Amino acid sequence: VPISNIRNFSIIAHIDHGKSTLADKLLQVTGTVEKREMKEQFLDNMDLERERGITIKLQAARMRYVNEKQPYCLNLIDTPGHVDFSYEVSRSLAACEGALLVVDASQGVEAQTLANVYLALENNLEIIIVLNKIDLPGAEPDRVSQEIEEVGSSLQLIGLDCSEAIYCSAKEGIGINEILDAIVKKVPPPPDTADNPLRALIFDSYYDPYRGVIVYFRVIDGTIRKGDRIYFMASGKDYYADEIGVLSPNQLQVDELYAGEVGYLSASIRSVADARVGDTITQYGRKAVQSLPGYKEATPMVFCGLFAELRDALEKLQLNDAALKFEPETSSAMGFGFRCGFLGLLHMEIVQFHKGDLVTANYTLPVKTRSTDFVASKLPTISSSRLFKSLERLEREYNLNLITTAPSVVYQVNCVNGDTVECSNPSALPEPGRRKSIEEPYVKMVGDFFDQLKSRSKGYASMEYSFVGYRESDLVKLDIQINGDRVDPLATIVHKDKAYAVGRALTQKLKELIPRQMFKVPIQATIGAKVIASEALSAIRKDVLSKCYGGDITRKKKLLKKQAEGKKRMKAIGKVDVPQEAFMAVLKLE
Ligand code: GDP
Ligand code: MG
Repeated sequence: VPISNIRNFSIIAHIDHGKSTLADKLLQVTGTVEKREMKEQFLDNMDLERERGITIKLQAARMRYVNEKQPYCLNLIDTPGHVDFSYEVSRSLAACEGALLVVDASQGVEAQTLANVYLALENNLEIIIVLNKIDLPGAEPDRVSQEIEEVGSSLQLIGLDCSEAIYCSAKEGIGINEILDAIVKKVPPPPDTADNPLRALIFDSYYDPYRGVIVYFRVIDGTIRKGDRIYFMASGKDYYADEIGVLSPNQLQVDELYAGEVGYLSASIRSVADARVGDTITQYGRKAVQSLPGYKEATPMVFCGLFAELRDALEKLQLNDAALKFEPETSSAMGFGFRCGFLGLLHMEIVQFHKGDLVTANYTLPVKTRSTDFVASKLPTISSSRLFKSLERLEREYNLNLITTAPSVVYQVNCVNGDTVECSNPSALPEPGRRKSIEEPYVKMVGDFFDQLKSRSKGYASMEYSFVGYRESDLVKLDIQINGDRVDPLATIVHKDKAYAVGRALTQKLKELIPRQMFKVPIQATIGAKVIASEALSAIRKDVLSKCYGGDITRKKKLLKKQAEGKKRMKAIGKVDVPQEAFMAVLKLE
């Protein structure tokens, strides 16, 4: 089709408002995907996504559509639905000229609706408003239209014109043709810049173990041909494009793609870090003068320690996730492990849960501090049952004994000598004599956070936050000693005025969580050399066989097996066996 008949668009929505359902319907109605080959939801094709019901990795689909006897090519570019991935969302939107804004007509405008609208407006997209779920008895499309139209000084208000909003039921297939018609009529075609030097925007990439990295891109300017020597302007790497193609939504090879088109390429690229989202692809022999705007390096927000020999698993993960950072860490108490950095808690959860099934964690209630901002370090608390489920899976698959530490944010430490150092590992905090002050990250919760949290069962309502910057706080390092040994992974950075309370609560919690040993075990919280709280486990002699009489050998075996299982996920700290839960204890304090 001529470039004037190409339309590139995304669907943006708050979680659960029907983005995937609508995408599926569009694919069906345009005959792109036969009903029988539709899985539950085609665009969310990772099992994990289906499990969690959110879109993490975005992809694209090309649809053929005839409108008033004219053939059109509609490229749908999917976007992830969570703030941890707002950079990825902004890059997919930058690959489009328009967006469908889907709002659940029984719910109205929500936090992520707003965040997405801002990203769409920043990218100058034509926004088509879709009021979804009008089949529901509770749907109030007129009221929701008013809500969308409201203008004012509050950030809660969008102020978009709803006079042409489309009433839709993605589930029942109502309004789908109107949506397709509006895409053709309202979304502008891409500008024709096929003669310029190539500039293609990467909006997604993933690692395929057989073909190397597969790069999804939109050609902004110029032309790309199979076999071209291409150059990635941010990473500085060059490759030969062995294969290029379109997504229909399965990969379909073509020989060339022009300005305005959306496709994929494979070029035996070994790691996604060489072809990161937001990078510009140009021709090696005819380089564009300027790369496309908006490229950003990933900055991890949350760190945690994973103690086990996981290098292979982590390296594999990194091939597919350019945002994952990790470095080896050794701890006197824990031995060898890794410190991993994640974009945010959801990213951490997904990385851990997904490839390699590392470990998973579920986060809830942050603590409110002065004003409407929250101390980022208070975000995580861990749901231990899910954590243990995944730990078991991981141990089975990798045959290892994994201990993970409580996640920590990155602190900025201003040193006496004028240096500023970043610290994500409490045990690596510069000594009090060396530091002048410590700053910690603050986040702002988007929308009516606490009300949403109460009214929803889904944990990720709590995750709608954005980073607002670093602020100085009066912080100290709280150490824990078990049986006289300092246990690095249990060290935490706490507000000074809370230190005594935390120290007391933490030692009590550890006393509950650590099983009694055959000798007395003191558990102490210290700040520097000063002990601020102290508990002790009393000694026990636990002979599981003492209750068995005589020769019941199977019963004996059973008991011994049970005792062995009980020892799992314990870490020997000196002579004391410390269970995994204890390393998360700090997250469980009231
Ligand atoms: P997403 O998170 O925005 O991708 O939302 P989904 O497409 O996964 O939809 C969330 C839930 O809403 C699913 O249970 C869908 O079946 C349901 N849903 C989506 N569209 C409609 C609709 O038009 N009517 C009704 N009743 N339910 C819908
Ligand atoms: Mg979805």
